[in-house]
Amino acid sequence: PPLHKQRHEFVIDFILKNKPRKVVDLGCSECALLKKLKFHHDIELLVGVDIDKTVLKRKMHGLDPLTSDYLVPGFDQLKIELYEGSVTQKDSRLRGFDLATSIELIEHLHLDDVERFSEVVFGYMAPGTVIVSTPNSEFNPLLPGLKGFRHRDHKFEWTRAQFQSWALKVCFQHGYEVQFTGVGWAPPGLQDRVGFCSQIGVFQRRYTRDDVLPRENAQVFSHTLLYSITYP
Ligand code: SAM
Repeated sequence: PPLHKQRHEFVIDFILKNKPRKVVDLGCSECALLKKLKFHHDIELLVGVDIDKTVLKRKMHGLDPLTSDYLVPGFDQLKIELYEGSVTQKDSRLRGFDLATSIELIEHLHLDDVERFSEVVFGYMAPGTVIVSTPNSEFNPLLPGLKGFRHRDHKFEWTRAQFQSWALKVCFQHGYEVQFTGVGWAPPGLQDRVGFCSQIGVFQRRYTRDDVLPRENAQVFSHTLLYSITYP
């Protein structure tokens, strides 16, 4: 399957194994991942955030319930919400999640915004798990015809060492531990040398939420709710 599907399948596999109830997809774009996740009945709250209102609105009605959704017996309540907002801004409605995903997002941020992202996501939202994917630049020589970055909006593409040093610093600062993996294998014999096409860090919070977030209960609303629907 194409790489963008493999990244989403990685998240779906994680969800099938770990059964998070509250999931937020950061930089959800046209909601492709959210659409796949709405079929996982253990999820009760599914939220998407993107800075680009136009891209969100383009396909968001694909999240609407189908008539058949109402007919499936035992379909637990599911709420889906979409916010227009920046991952560099705090919003108290995004705290208390079991899983936050950031799939091919951070490389679209300038480095000072990556710092804000780390602070907001790991320090303030503090979800139980964060899954971050980003291009692995060591793989780029294997991509035919590629000159420069994989996308013209990318502000950087990191080697494995650069990604890992960012990730370990985040863990140290905010009390997480991380495992590194990826999707998109290199040809036989090259995997160790270049790594995966997309590198992925799976971050687990090391403490219970109450230990890390001692009553920061203030309500902060930076994002704009664009879409909200409750399944029966
Ligand atoms: N996550 C999507 C997926 O898995 O198919 C693809 C993400 S797309 C490559 C990057 C997205 O990040 C774009 O939709 C863009 O609007 C969004 N984005 C860029 N900067 C952002 C920010 N500061 N806050 C929230 N979203 C942002």
